[in-house]
Amino acid sequence: MKKIKIFVMVLVVASIFLGLVACKNDKKDTGTKDPKVLVMGTNAAFPPFEYMEGGQVVGLDAEMMALIAKELGMELKIVDMDFDSLPTALANGQIDIIAAGLTVRPDREETMDFTDTYYTAAQTVIVLKDSGYEGIVDLSDKLIGVQTGTTGSFCAEEFVNDLSQIKTFQNGMLAVEALKNGQVDAVVIDNNPAKEYAEINSNLDLIEGEFADEMYAMAVAKGNKVLLDRVNEAFAKIRGNGEFDKIIDKYVK
Ligand code: GLN
Repeated sequence: MKKIKIFVMVLVVASIFLGLVACKNDKKDTGTKDPKVLVMGTNAAFPPFEYMEGGQVVGLDAEMMALIAKELGMELKIVDMDFDSLPTALANGQIDIIAAGLTVRPDREETMDFTDTYYTAAQTVIVLKDSGYEGIVDLSDKLIGVQTGTTGSFCAEEFVNDLSQIKTFQNGMLAVEALKNGQVDAVVIDNNPAKEYAEINSNLDLIEGEFADEMYAMAVAKGNKVLLDRVNEAFAKIRGNGEFDKIIDKYVK
């Protein structure tokens, strides 16, 4: 009898202890540094996905992430930085997630984990209206403006005769300014920002259909399966209930 009592007591104590440990883990295991705050890194010069308006970062990615954070019961904090600083910021824990019109690429998969994809894009060439350039065949010996570390820059590297023809800029807006000032002959950038730039600059033309499709996804630090799963689940919800489509309709022309 006594033995059974002791056994039961041990069981009770053990389960309380296990329960406490489990609760503690539950609380901690958000995959983020602060369980209440989801820190998103982006480069807010990439309309319609992210751009500045009234001192705030707005756009498709910002709104999508706000909904995801809400699903997760977290507050969203957005950190704006150069596009090519995002992978390091993610790896060192300065940000929890990248949402920046970021294209899934095998080389990037070595240093970060991508969520489910949410958008299909393709690189577009922007030229001046009177340039006479009709395709990348006309641009192999020309100066090409790109954003540092982007798929646009990798595409441009493929069609120029010499890498010295590639001029890098910290964001797309600066590359487009350089095109308007005659410092470069063309800019290679994702199709949606290209359309936005062409819309506000009547002297720009777009050359489309030269490059393969790309998929955008969010990215978490390599191995952060907890956050990856939570974000994918939240994203599936906002895709399933039609909220994500509303954001697409609002931002994509
Ligand atoms: N989609 C491109 C890439 O991932 C550009 C993204 C961006 O400039 N924000 O490289």
